[in-house]
Amino acid sequence: METIYEKITADNKKNDEIIAKAVDIIKNGGLVAFPTETVYGLGGNALNSESSKKIYQAKGRPSDNPLIVHIGNIGQIDGIAEEFPEKAKALADKFWPGPLTMVLKKKPCVPLETTGGLGTVAVRMPAHKTAKMLLSSGLYIAAPSANTSGKPSPTKGSYVYEDLNGRIDMIIEDDTVNIGVESTIIDMTREVPTLLRPGHISREDIEKVIGHIDVDETIAGIENYKKVDENTKPLAPGMMYRHYAPDASLALVDSENKGGKSVVEHITKLALEDISNNRKTVILTTDENTDIYKKLMSEANVSDESILFTKCTDFFKTLSDISNNILIYVVSLGNRGELSSIEQNLFMGLRLCNDIGAESIYSETFDTDNQGLAVMNRLIKAAGDKIIKV
Ligand code: AMP
Ligand code: MG
Repeated sequence: METIYEKITADNKKNDEIIAKAVDIIKNGGLVAFPTETVYGLGGNALNSESSKKIYQAKGRPSDNPLIVHIGNIGQIDGIAEEFPEKAKALADKFWPGPLTMVLKKKPCVPLETTGGLGTVAVRMPAHKTAKMLLSSGLYIAAPSANTSGKPSPTKGSYVYEDLNGRIDMIIEDDTVNIGVESTIIDMTREVPTLLRPGHISREDIEKVIGHIDVDETIAGIENYKKVDENTKPLAPGMMYRHYAPDASLALVDSENKGGKSVVEHITKLALEDISNNRKTVILTTDENTDIYKKLMSEANVSDESILFTKCTDFFKTLSDISNNILIYVVSLGNRGELSSIEQNLFMGLRLCNDIGAESIYSETFDTDNQGLAVMNRLIKAAGDKIIKV
């Protein structure tokens, strides 16, 4: 199938045409990838079981992994959910439109294909202007992240293209995806609302509005981290799968003092071993530690030609200029003191490891308060359990 690729620009008339075309495609059972404020979504008509089947097919996603239904206004809740509890209303008041997904009891009109066979439906009202334009059509749009299942979620149109070109009807690009990890998911059907997936809206943010919530044990941070097996089945089915993974193996190097001296020294040691075996290596770090790696690498006599220090956000500007001689890339994901910068760049960082053909990847870890829980949750999944304690 030929995939139409359109870009949102300052030309509003053209934008309206793009949106009208996208709405038409979705109404007719087709699939359109579009930006939201978290990551790009792959949208289909949530009330059409055939559309949902197509989404699973295009992504190569297991069909027991339910889809999030996106809405454009609060009045639409009534069309798909049996109940909208008071606490859910309070959260909607505070955080919608925004990166929060609430699991509610579903109405029969929502096909089981959309909910992965569950009697509940996950609902979100996104804040991104392009998503809002699309949703002003009144459609219910099922939209998982627009990546091939298992890969890092796409934060750029070009990544969607890389994964889904030829498999879907249309891609709408708009550069302003700015949160970078998927929405926070909270189950509002349980007696005590339960956090199923951490995201930009943190547990702390939610508890300020509705008081204590539970946290699904399978998403706990690294201190309480339990390997997910049959005995600890996550409440959000998608959290079971290895996810977000770059092609090369990623190991997390953790210590009580996150990103502290012992971590930097250990990562340097491992990276030096790798390059002595001619393996291309990426170190994922933060602005605070970049100079320390510089010093250690220079003490180890790593030549300037074989190492590149870069910020994740600058990396793409220089990708085409990068020499093939580089063996170690020290990439800053952002600022440890400002966790939302890490959150925003994390998937980009994981994708760039693929772009440069990395053979080993090491990342520091983060404290799990506020957005740190979302960052660590994604990193642990991407690492597929490879955690080195120092
Ligand atoms: P994605 O669309 O890739 O952001 O993934 C959506 C995730 O939402 C799924 O992987 C599930 O873990 C979760 N989810 C969606 N619907 C439900 C539901 N009804 N109950 C629990 N979790 C859900
Ligand atoms: Mg996903």
